Amino acid sequence: MPSAAWTRRGAIPGVGPTLPAPLKAAATRTRSWWWLARSRGRPDGAGLRILFYHRISDDDDPLAVSPRRFREQMELLAAGGYYVVGLSAAVDLLERGLSPPRVVALNFDDGYRDVAENALPVLERLGFRATVFLPTAVIDGTASFPWYERQPPVLGWDEVVELDRGATLRFEPHTVTHPNLLLLDDATSRHEIAQSKLDVESKLGRPARLFCYPAGLFGERERRFVAESGFRAAVSCEPGVNRPDADLLTLRRRQIDPADRRLDFRAKVGGGHDTPLPLRGVYRRLRYGEGAPQRPSAAAVR
Ligand SMILES: [Zn+2]
Repeated sequence: MPSAAWTRRGAIPGVGPTLPAPLKAAATRTRSWWWLARSRGRPDGAGLRILFYHRISDDDDPLAVSPRRFREQMELLAAGGYYVVGLSAAVDLLERGLSPPRVVALNFDDGYRDVAENALPVLERLGFRATVFLPTAVIDGTASFPWYERQPPVLGWDEVVELDRGATLRFEPHTVTHPNLLLLDDATSRHEIAQSKLDVESKLGRPARLFCYPAGLFGERERRFVAESGFRAAVSCEPGVNRPDADLLTLRRRQIDPADRRLDFRAKVGGGHDTPLPLRGVYRRLRYGEGAPQRPSAAAVR
């Protein structure tokens, strides 16, 4: 029961639920209907959207989307003529000033093994690509996610190395131990960011260029450390669309939730969920403490 554990231990999850699950599902559904009424189901092609998941599993876990739903969602994208790309290709497009309307970027956070078991075959069949963000000490087995009483299996480095050589998945760093970076002193925050890059590079034998802030929590300081560590781009958990002038170090993403139905998924892809749900900021401030949520500042957003 991960959600109970989160509350009891006050630990940060892979990404904080924005609101308690039933309330969030109801708010999401309402917004999806509003999008459908407004747009008549036509996707908004104003920029590039990044969708992210954690687990693909039938487990009762607020971070797990069922394999059946995931397959349906990917098939919906294929039927809609979407190109589904990893984040590296998405950043290439944005850097070239492009955001083609039928391109969606996909990523998975935290390196759960069920992504390889249940998502990878679907992605391979459809010719889709995705990026997976790894907290390197969790993959080492020397740290664990504090929000699980019994942590689901994560990939091992041998599997990561093998999968990274394939056509579909690319692995990038997500800190060393998956902390709330905002609560760390300067040296520790910088180390979590820079060391995870070195870890991934030494295992994979190639440069790591993309970073993911745990739970999407960052401030000006973290953004600076990410830039100084030599990353090309980083993703937050702020919802929204990325236009070619987006700040590459605070890219926006939309999480796909276990309760999302077909219409919710279409609305998320189509631009109906590009702004935070009402009260999300208040909820995250209460949950993560003073200063959160960290919104990209005007300077960072450009
Ligand atoms: Zn995470």
